[in-house]
Amino acid sequence: MALTGLKIQKLLPKTNCKECGSNTCLAFAMKLAAQKAQLSDCPYASDEAKQILGAASEPPVKGIVLGAEGSLKLGEETVFYRHEKTFVNQTALAVNVNNTDSSECIDATLDHIKNYLLERVGEELRIDLAAVTQKDNDAESFVALARKASETTGRPLVLRSHDPKALAEAAAAVKGSRSVIVAPNPDAASELWPVAGENGHALAVTAKDMDEMVAATSCIKEAGFNELIMSFGTHSLAEQFQTNSIARRHALKDRYKPLGYPSLHFIDTEDEMDAMAEAVNAITKFGGICVLPAFDAAMLSALMTLRLNIYTDPQKPIQVEPKLYPLGDPTPESPVFVTTNFSLTYFIVSGEIENSGISAWLAIPECEGMSVLTAWAAGKFSGSSIAKFCKDISLDEQVKSRQIVIPGYVAQISGELEESMPGWEVLVGPQESADLESFIKARLS
Ligand code: SF4
Repeated sequence: MALTGLKIQKLLPKTNCKECGSNTCLAFAMKLAAQKAQLSDCPYASDEAKQILGAASEPPVKGIVLGAEGSLKLGEETVFYRHEKTFVNQTALAVNVNNTDSSECIDATLDHIKNYLLERVGEELRIDLAAVTQKDNDAESFVALARKASETTGRPLVLRSHDPKALAEAAAAVKGSRSVIVAPNPDAASELWPVAGENGHALAVTAKDMDEMVAATSCIKEAGFNELIMSFGTHSLAEQFQTNSIARRHALKDRYKPLGYPSLHFIDTEDEMDAMAEAVNAITKFGGICVLPAFDAAMLSALMTLRLNIYTDPQKPIQVEPKLYPLGDPTPESPVFVTTNFSLTYFIVSGEIENSGISAWLAIPECEGMSVLTAWAAGKFSGSSIAKFCKDISLDEQVKSRQIVIPGYVAQISGELEESMPGWEVLVGPQESADLESFIKARLS
């Protein structure tokens, strides 16, 4: 359970010395309870206070770091719904290869895992992990494939086998890659956690229900290993949704540590629509890692776009740098368009202008990442602020044309902008970016 301010105050020296920046120990305790201060700000905190408060301030879902460079993070979530604050670490996407697949199929899949790249609103999105599954009793080929997948892709692996010995060998073969060993059941998990620890990997515990999972994670944590991931053996979409939700709710609301780990979900169906539904469920309902059965560019594109929507911080819009952007091959005579620095707005507007076939300049003033109407309502996208930005970037000197196109949604600022930019003609563009091409053909070509 989270500690209250009063309980925290009892653990502090109560001298009210103010060195932490608060007037009293109670005020500091209240800040700690609200997670607005760090205990390290009090130089006089006792070891007992550090121990108790340190445990209480751990995120309810444990953070797991994967990848040789520690570049992939899971867990550390603190809220049940994104709008309460933000989700922290997005669902990692893995693509599976089986040791029974043909060598052509394996090579092609590993190549895709290494090289697939999707660009969305200025972000470069890639496949996070390679999953390697042993489908038969040939441990040797499984271990060889694990080694090959690690070397070829450079990604952390998800190693799945029914055979704990094969898993132990594969774990040793890719030591240092900070991968995930998937124990097929709680007994195997008890056997494998020392192997995971020795080789620097995390251990995914597979359990058939919540009770079995709680018993397994509690036991392994008590034994001294806590780099755990939960893999529930669910059998339907509804069960997957329900199990993930219950586990996450217990972890967050009750601070229940045995369920406070990221989850792992394998998609084993060959039906594309079912696979898509399971993956969407994993991304939207607290999935830590989602393993896709094979490489499918169309599916990945849709899932990564969905994931971007769910896991971006709603309080920090994705922004582009405020500046004058050339689109195509503009000359000083090319027209100037202006819009806000919200990434989505920038990429949609710039794409439509480029699609029209003309070259132009796109002026992007600082609008704190807001969309056009929001920025206008907040006073960040007015005639005077646009004029000031154009002056700051010396637009008059860079561009000889004297036409600037504003978004149709802020037609009301055209008069103010014209007054603030003497010599410039302000054109009111369309409200929707999709109409830019016809606007350009009608007014600017
Ligand atoms: Fe109290 Fe520590 Fe802050 Fe001093 S620094 S007021 S002892 S909490």
